[in-house]
Amino acid sequence: MSHTVRTRFAPSPTGFLHVGGIRTALFAWLVARQAGGTFILRLEDTDKAREVEGSGQHIQDSLRALGLEWDEGVGKPDGGGPHGPYIQSQRLASYKLWAEKLIAAGRAYADPYTPAEVQAFREQAQAARQPFLYRNHRPGPDANGNLPAWDGSTALRFKSDPKDYQWHDEVMGDLHAGDEAIDDFILMKSDGYPTYNFAHIVDDAEMEVTHVIRGQEFVSSTPNYLNLYEALGILPGQGRPLLATMPHILGPDGKKKLSKRDGAKDVLDYIRDGFLPETLVNFIASMGWNDGSEQEIFSIDELVQKFSLAKVQKSGARFDEQRLLWMNGAHIRSLDLDTLYTLCQAPYDYWPPEATDYPEEYRRQILGLVQERLKFFKELPELTRFFFVDLPVDPELISGHKQLKKVEPAELKELLARSRTALETSDFSVDDLTHKLNDLLEQTGQKPAVLFSLIRIASTQAPSSPGLADTLAVLGKERSLQRIDRQLESL
Ligand code: GLU
Repeated sequence: MSHTVRTRFAPSPTGFLHVGGIRTALFAWLVARQAGGTFILRLEDTDKAREVEGSGQHIQDSLRALGLEWDEGVGKPDGGGPHGPYIQSQRLASYKLWAEKLIAAGRAYADPYTPAEVQAFREQAQAARQPFLYRNHRPGPDANGNLPAWDGSTALRFKSDPKDYQWHDEVMGDLHAGDEAIDDFILMKSDGYPTYNFAHIVDDAEMEVTHVIRGQEFVSSTPNYLNLYEALGILPGQGRPLLATMPHILGPDGKKKLSKRDGAKDVLDYIRDGFLPETLVNFIASMGWNDGSEQEIFSIDELVQKFSLAKVQKSGARFDEQRLLWMNGAHIRSLDLDTLYTLCQAPYDYWPPEATDYPEEYRRQILGLVQERLKFFKELPELTRFFFVDLPVDPELISGHKQLKKVEPAELKELLARSRTALETSDFSVDDLTHKLNDLLEQTGQKPAVLFSLIRIASTQAPSSPGLADTLAVLGKERSLQRIDRQLESL
């Protein structure tokens, strides 16, 4: 496999990384890792008005939290690598040099129009029901045959060479566009910064990027990029990167594009809530990619082995938080207890505050019991609090219970009293408790949904718990019987 693969993630520091951004980063990382290549992080900060302070750092923290370490770029030692700087606002000299090359070749010119004049052209085109093309208003050469010279105080435009294009996208397949897609776009703005359209082409060329993996918003501009590549002599097989366009991420309904209301959060928030990095990576990879089998749970190593751009789907991928919860549960179940125990205490402590008074061994037992049902670590207090605190008797647990609400209180009381007597004779080992509980079931002729629910509610005061015998064994005899007594008093 080629070792020259170089991919990059090139976010703009304009806010937190949404799942779409992370997916682009992840796929670029996977392509690089699979080929033993290089993954680059570059910050595209040429739109100063949209920049959000701290966002560059946040992006780095998010990638690191997911284990998507980069080899070159922002935040790496020694200037980030051999092609630095990796922050666009620090690369202005490069853009200027490339702009001058285009000017010298007669392929760029100073934009002579004010914004109001351009607006007037646009309105003319609209009135004539024609698409607005700036190149229809391209200024003519002067008496010496020169295009308007550029002194940096105005925008610099590309002098395009309109033509039809067909190109291959590693995900979307063969695409084409007519010459109406090509226009004289801005290379350098009058504020001295390059546009994205220009800067990314310069950077990808200087950084020897082999794969440009990015979102769909750039497809309609791709013919312009191809035209500029040609003007720069960057041709397919001779430095022009492969293009791969990611499918949209859709909301849970599978129709509209994902919005914040659909529950997609900052990945660092997911991590703080106790989602495992390996789940997030698995989940994000699954939005638009599968290996063609039924497999849904992938380790990061498996993804590195099996990922391919060719298997990324063209159509939109659904963001489904329920699936994320299920996946995290599956990853949590696959952890050994030591790892799970460590992850529940650091870097965040997820235990309910009362747990600090209890020995490690007790907490580990509890964790072993709830591991099966834990979907994210922040749920831990809700699932385990009753192991640490005697919760007050909650009458609604019985009055709101599907089965128990149909039974007369006197009968419930008698059932619970009989249960207490039976449990009193138990040594509270799981085996013995299981025995005693099954005997009780037979003797009382009750359904487990009645008898076991009653004992469970009495001994936990929680709407759910791990298996009854396991729960009672961990709570211990004294505490369990005390709690049953309190419930009896209230019935
Ligand atoms: N800065 C662009 C963005 O954040 C990057 C697009 C690209 O990867 O080329 O959308």
